[in-house]
Amino acid sequence: MLDKRKFYINGEWVEPAAQNDLYVLNPATEKPIAVISLGTAVDIDRAVAAAKKAFEAYSRTSLEERLTLLEKLLAIYKRRYDEMADTITAELGAPKTMSREQQSDVGVGHLQGYIDALKRLKLREKLSNGDTLMREPIGVCGLITPWNWPVNQIALKVVPALATGCTCVLKPSEFTPLNAMLYAEMIDEAGFPRGVFNLVNGDGLHAGAALSKHKDIDMMSFTGSTRAGIAVSKDAADTVKRVTLELGGKSPNIVFADADLEERVTASVLECFNNSGQSCDAPTRMLVERSAYEDVVAIARRAGREATVGDPTREGAHIGPLVSHIQFERVQALIEAGVGEGARLLVGGPGKPEGFETGYFVKPTIFADVDNSMRIAREEVFGPVLAIIPFDTEEEAIAIANDTSYGLAAYVQTGNPERAERVAARLRAGMVHINGGPHRYGSPFGGYKQSGNGREGGTFGLEDFLEVKTVHLPDAA
Ligand code: NAD
Repeated sequence: MLDKRKFYINGEWVEPAAQNDLYVLNPATEKPIAVISLGTAVDIDRAVAAAKKAFEAYSRTSLEERLTLLEKLLAIYKRRYDEMADTITAELGAPKTMSREQQSDVGVGHLQGYIDALKRLKLREKLSNGDTLMREPIGVCGLITPWNWPVNQIALKVVPALATGCTCVLKPSEFTPLNAMLYAEMIDEAGFPRGVFNLVNGDGLHAGAALSKHKDIDMMSFTGSTRAGIAVSKDAADTVKRVTLELGGKSPNIVFADADLEERVTASVLECFNNSGQSCDAPTRMLVERSAYEDVVAIARRAGREATVGDPTREGAHIGPLVSHIQFERVQALIEAGVGEGARLLVGGPGKPEGFETGYFVKPTIFADVDNSMRIAREEVFGPVLAIIPFDTEEEAIAIANDTSYGLAAYVQTGNPERAERVAARLRAGMVHINGGPHRYGSPFGGYKQSGNGREGGTFGLEDFLEVKTVHLPDAA
C-alpha cells in the first residue's frame, strides 16, 4: 500500500499539520491501495500563504515564459501518460482501455487546447474610444475537483490558472487523490516556481470550506455536485471572491423518428453508460417521438443487454464499478425509486450483476415509459441508468427537455438539419450535441441554470481567471 500522506506546498512534499489518515480504496476490490491525509485549515493557510507569496513574481512572468513551462508540462504528461491511466483505473475503477483512451487523453487535450488559446490571448488592447484594456491574473485561486473525470477537471482548472499568471491551491476529491498527486509531481518536474502550485488533500467540510472562506483566496473554481457548489458560493460570499461552478446535469437526448435510429440510439445508450454513468453531461433522459417509440425501445433494450460489466484491469469496452460504496447505495436507491414509481424496467434493475459480489458494480439499467416528474427523470443518478420518455410533438419535446433545474448538455438526433438548428436554439443548455457531434478541446464547457456558471477550456476558460483593467489616458491636446 502506498504512503501518500504528504502535501505539496511551496515546491516541497511536506508533512500535514495533524495526523488524520484516510484510506483510498480500489472500487473493484474494495481493498485499500493508499493512505492519504485529510488536511485542515492549518494546512490550507500554509498553502495559501505560499501561493500568495509566489503570486508577486509569477504574476509578472511573460506569456512566453509561461508557455515554455506549459510545453514542458505537456511533454512530461505525455511521457507519464500510461501511469496516469493506470492510477485512474486503480482509484476510480475506470476500465483499462477507457482510462487510456479517454480519462488520460483529456489531460493532453485540455493542456494543448489552453496552450493554443494562450498563444491567441490579447493581454492588452486599445478600445475604439481610445482607452486601453489590460487583462491581468486574478490572483490566488482555490481549485476543488470531483472524482469522476479527475484529471479532466484538474487540467481544466490548474492549467488556465498557471497559464494566466495566477497561483493556486488544489484540493482534489478525497476519493481519487492519487492522480492529482501524480499531476503535482509533473508540475514539480516542469520547473514551475515554488508556491505557484500547491496541493492539499482533504474532505469538503474541512479543507474545502477552509479554502472557500479564505480571505487571501481571490477566486474559487469548483466542480462537483450542485449541493457542494451552493456551499462553496455561500462560504465565498463574505470575502466577495469570484466563484465559477461546474455542477450536475440531467441532460435530455431528443430522438426524432427521422433519425438513423439503429446507429444513434445504440450510440446514445453506450454514451449514457460510459464511465459507469458517472459523467455530468451524460445523456440520461432519452425523449423519443411516439411514432418511433417501440422501435427505439427495442434497439435500446438490445444495446443495454449487450453492455457488459467487467474487471477494470482487463482491456475491453466493458464498464467498471462505481467509485464508492456511498455512490453504490445512492444509485441503488434511485433504481428502486424507478421501479417503485412504475417505470417499465427494460434492462438491469436493483442489485449487483451476477459474479460481481465484491466491488461497487451495478447492473446497466434502462427504464421505459418514464414520466418527466419521476425521480429518475429529475435527479442526477450518476450511475449507468437511462430513462426513456415518449413525446408527440417538437414543441412538447423542447418543453420536456427544458423542464429540469439543470442545463449542462443536450443532445438531438434527427435526419433534418433545419430541425436540428431550430431545436438547438430553443434548448436551455450550455452545449448541444447533434447526431453524435463530440465535444472538441478548446471549446467552452459549462452549463445554464443549476449546472453552474463560467466556462472551462480554451479562450473562455482563460478569461475566467483574468481581471480586466481599464487605463484612461487624458484626451490628446
Ligand atoms: P461532491 O460535490 O460531493 O464533491 C466534489 C468536490 O467538492 C470534492 O473535492 C469534495 O471534497 C468537495 N466538497 C464537498 N462538499 C464541499 C463543501 N461543502 N465545500 C467545499 N468543497 C466541498 O461531488 P462528487 O460526488 O465528487 O462529484 C460528482 C458531482 O460532480 C456530480 O454532481 C457531477 O455532475 C458533478 N460534475 C460536474 C461537472 C461539470 O463540469 N459540470 C464535471 C464533473 C462532475
